[in-house]
Amino acid sequence: MIDTLNIQVNKILSSKISQTNFNDLPFGKVFSDHMFMADYQEGEWKNLQIMPYAEISINPAASALQYGQAIFEGIKAFRHANGKISIFRPFKNFERFNISAERMVMPAVPEELFIQGMSQLINLDKDWVPSIEGQSLYIRPFMFATEPVLGVHASETYKFIILTGPTAAYYPKPLKVKIELNYARSVEGGIGYAKTAGNYGGSLYPTKLAQKEGFDQLIWTDSKSHTFIEESGTTNIMFVINDVLITPSTRDTILDGVTRNSILELARAWGMPVEERRVTVLEIVNAIKNKTLQDAFGAGTAATVAHIAQIGHEGELYTLPDPTGRKFSNKVAKALSDIRYGIADDKFGWNYLV
Ligand SMILES: *Cc1c(COP(=O)(O)O)cnc(C)c1O
Repeated sequence: MIDTLNIQVNKILSSKISQTNFNDLPFGKVFSDHMFMADYQEGEWKNLQIMPYAEISINPAASALQYGQAIFEGIKAFRHANGKISIFRPFKNFERFNISAERMVMPAVPEELFIQGMSQLINLDKDWVPSIEGQSLYIRPFMFATEPVLGVHASETYKFIILTGPTAAYYPKPLKVKIELNYARSVEGGIGYAKTAGNYGGSLYPTKLAQKEGFDQLIWTDSKSHTFIEESGTTNIMFVINDVLITPSTRDTILDGVTRNSILELARAWGMPVEERRVTVLEIVNAIKNKTLQDAFGAGTAATVAHIAQIGHEGELYTLPDPTGRKFSNKVAKALSDIRYGIADDKFGWNYLV
C-alpha cells in the first residue's frame, strides 16, 4: 500500500483492548479504539483524520436524519496464521459504495480515501484483528448528509466514517424463512440495488411480523407479482437444483453482493453449471416437493453462507435436505474461508494485504 493521503492521526491515550472479552463478541457492539473520519465541504473531501472512537456532534437538523441520505458498506479483515492481515475484496465494496452514493445524490468517495483510510485505520488498530479461529474484524464504512436544512434537496455537506470491531466466529444456525407475499423490500425504479439506510428501515416491520410467526427471516419476492424470488433477509439467495447453481440475476431491486459474486466465480472455476436468471417461487417449491433441490442458502459478508433449513410458503412449511450433508454450500463456505485466512492460494487476488 502506498500512502498518498495526509491523514491526521490522534491516538487514544489508553487502549480498551485489555477490557475486551474476545470470547464474547455480540455482533456490532464492540468497537476498536479508533475511527476514520472525513468531511465533504465546498465540493471537496477535507479534515481526513484517524481519531479515538467516540461520540461525535452533529446538527439536529442534519438532513440525513430527516430525509435519509445515508449509505454504508460491510467488509471483513482476517488475520492469517503468519500474522499478516488481509481485507477481503475491498475494491468491490468501494465500487458499490459509489454506486449507492450516485443513486442517493451523494458525492463519490475517492478510491485512496476509502482504501488508504481503511488500511491505515486497521494498521493502527491491528491488535483488534482477532487471532482466534473463525473470528474477523468487521469494517463499516458509511456516509451521511450533514447539512442543517429542512428543505428537501441533496445536502451540500457529508461525513464519511469508518468504524471497525472484532466479530465472533459465525456458527451458522440453519434458518427458517418465510416467502413474503405482501410486503416488498424494494421496487422497480427504487433503491434496492443501493446499500442505503432506508432499505433496512423499511424491511424491519415485515421481518418482525414473520418473526412473530416463528420465522428467522424473509425471502423477499418482486413487488409487482410476488412470484419471483429476490433476496433473503439482508443477503443474496442461492439454490442448487439438479447440481446447477441458481441465483436471481441482479437488477435494480437486488443488491449486487460481493459474497454472491465470489461464490459464482468459485463455482464457475470448479466447472459447475451456474444460472443467473429470474427464479420463480413456484420452481423452488416444486424442486423441494420433487426432491431435486439440494441446497438453499443466503450469501453475505456477515454469515458468508447461511443455510436455509425450512421454507414457509402460503401456510405450508417445507423442510429442506439436512444442512450438514449439503455438498456445495459447505464446500464453498470452506473454500472462501481458506482463501480469507491465507490457508488456500488466493488465485483470484481477492485478499488485500494491509
Ligand atoms: C449487504 C447486502 C447483501 C450482501 O452483500 P455482500 O457484499 O455479500 O456482503 C445482500 N443483500 C442486501 C440487501 C445487502 O444489504
